[in-house]
Amino acid sequence: MSRNDDPIKTLQAVFGYPAFRGRQAEIIGQLLGGGDALVLMPTGGGKSLCYQLPSLLRPGCGIVISPLIALMQDQVAALRQYGVRAAALNSAIGLREAREVESALLAGELDLLYVAPERLLTPGFLALLERARIALFAIDEAHCVSQWGHDFRPEYLQLGVLHERFAGVPRVALTATADPLTREEIVERLALHSAQVFVSSFDRPNIRYTIVDRKEARQQLLRFIRDEHAGQAGVVYCLSRRKVDETAQWLADQGIDAIAYHAGMSTTDRERNQARFQREEAVVVVATIAFGMGIDKPDVRFVAHFDLPKSIEGYYQETGRAGRDGLPADAWMAYGMTDVVQQRRMIDESEADETHKRVSGAKLDALLGLCETAGCRRVRLLEYFGELSTACGNCDNCLFPPSTWDATDAARKALSCIYRTGQRFGVLHLIDVLLGRETGRVRRWNHAQLSVFGIGADLAEAQWRNVFRQLVALGFARVDHTAHGALKLTPASRPVLRAEQSVQMRRDLREKPVSKKSRRKSLFAGLTASASVAAGAAPAALSGSDQGVSEQLLQDLRAWRLAESREQSVPAYVILHDATLVQIAAQLPQSLEQLALVQGIGERKLERYGEKIMALVRGAHP
Ligand code: ADP
Ligand code: ZN
Repeated sequence: MSRNDDPIKTLQAVFGYPAFRGRQAEIIGQLLGGGDALVLMPTGGGKSLCYQLPSLLRPGCGIVISPLIALMQDQVAALRQYGVRAAALNSAIGLREAREVESALLAGELDLLYVAPERLLTPGFLALLERARIALFAIDEAHCVSQWGHDFRPEYLQLGVLHERFAGVPRVALTATADPLTREEIVERLALHSAQVFVSSFDRPNIRYTIVDRKEARQQLLRFIRDEHAGQAGVVYCLSRRKVDETAQWLADQGIDAIAYHAGMSTTDRERNQARFQREEAVVVVATIAFGMGIDKPDVRFVAHFDLPKSIEGYYQETGRAGRDGLPADAWMAYGMTDVVQQRRMIDESEADETHKRVSGAKLDALLGLCETAGCRRVRLLEYFGELSTACGNCDNCLFPPSTWDATDAARKALSCIYRTGQRFGVLHLIDVLLGRETGRVRRWNHAQLSVFGIGADLAEAQWRNVFRQLVALGFARVDHTAHGALKLTPASRPVLRAEQSVQMRRDLREKPVSKKSRRKSLFAGLTASASVAAGAAPAALSGSDQGVSEQLLQDLRAWRLAESREQSVPAYVILHDATLVQIAAQLPQSLEQLALVQGIGERKLERYGEKIMALVRGAHP
């Protein structure tokens, strides 16, 4: 393979990508110059190339420290497809193979070596490294040093040793965790004080954010998956293990290839399900947040939140697992009053101290603000991470601007109802009273006698639910868990009750039916736009037309890829990414030279698959 000192030429020759993304070129330059780097980039931003390329260009082998043993094999397989000499060392690898890898390292026959931190830290391995030539150390998922995050790995704390023992070797730490506190911890614990820090925009322009009002949750989820993502891979996040199991089963009963993942399952079951998701093309995983860091699949087309996440950080990290390949992807959430009640209860009833509860409460409020906003979701999200932006054109609110209504009168009625019933009842009963329903509970508490009984007949039950939810989200009422989810007034309730303040609310969050056809179109169009996505620009052409994409050829290519991946027992995307297949089907290359220009076709892949691909192109378009 042709490698030379020029990073861009190596990028093109080996990986078949025309240009660097974002700050990749700068980061690579820093490492090639022998300096250290701290890289903060969103998931899917392209962190791996930042250490892979310098490992190819610097003398010696790049050592990549990663906690994700389950993924190492796939990463190594993907690199080998590009002709890179890569290997992994971890507990899943047998003694003999480990010896072979070690001698290849000493003989200078490796470009990249992935190791688990516990392996790296053994005295034997450190001694071996001292005898080898090392291009750089890459510490992936560097936020694992943070004792406050839920990905904490104690071994990561000892990685400072690299600085002491291999002083001259450049080190790069990489993470998708954005907050400043974690960043400081990484610098401190990994002794990266002199590292240059590279912060990328955390925007993921190819992800479309949608938040719908939960009505009949399962049906909504099913429709979303069937109408917009049939036959595609996705993740559905639920809060509890039980809900994970039930939802996975239910989806499976509806004919979706859905499987469960949560920490309560046996390791074997978990690993099997993760491997199926990773390797097959159209598996839907229903999971708790335990399913997370280990997902390295580029073609996850949607992430759905069936329950409200705990914070915007969590939401963003989870949704970030969609669309790593830069193609259009969906982040979809169903949200309702019960979520707010449940989350508040979890905070109130937790063992945490008051400060912690206050912080959790504030995080929940920020998330509710995102759910209720009538403005651009992306602007809200990025603002939360300290980035200013303008309306994105690729979220539900931008695409289908919600209308607002003057809810002053409704808010007053609702708050009076809370007050008159003694601030002791939950939403269901309050709505019964407003609608004038003679339920058992109404009779028991004599609530038909109250002045508020039946004053809400002008709105339907669903509208009242919406009003109460927004009242809580906007801070005009609060949920008290020490009293079984009873709604209470807040200081902000007063001016509304006294008609001194008006209240605007957004209309029902509607499901926005987007036809299957238009979504497919946008997937194709996204490809032609992927160059601009790669350059960090907004994918303006996300809803363009799919003219010129040969569906037949695409199918043929996928079938061939599947057969190839089975034969080699690697995931399909390791052979070629979707993006590459669609580009071939759109451009119909007429020669190997033209095929070489398609993104993702490096020299090695051209050599290995070029003729087969050309035969398929010619077959479909003689
Ligand atoms: P991260 O580790 O930051 O989540 P990856 O390194 O897995 O992201 O990269 C995400 C995707 O982007 C991969 O499919 C990768 O091949 C692709 N990619 C990375 N850099 C480029 C580039 N310069 N041009 C085109 N595609 C790229
Ligand atoms: Zn928007």
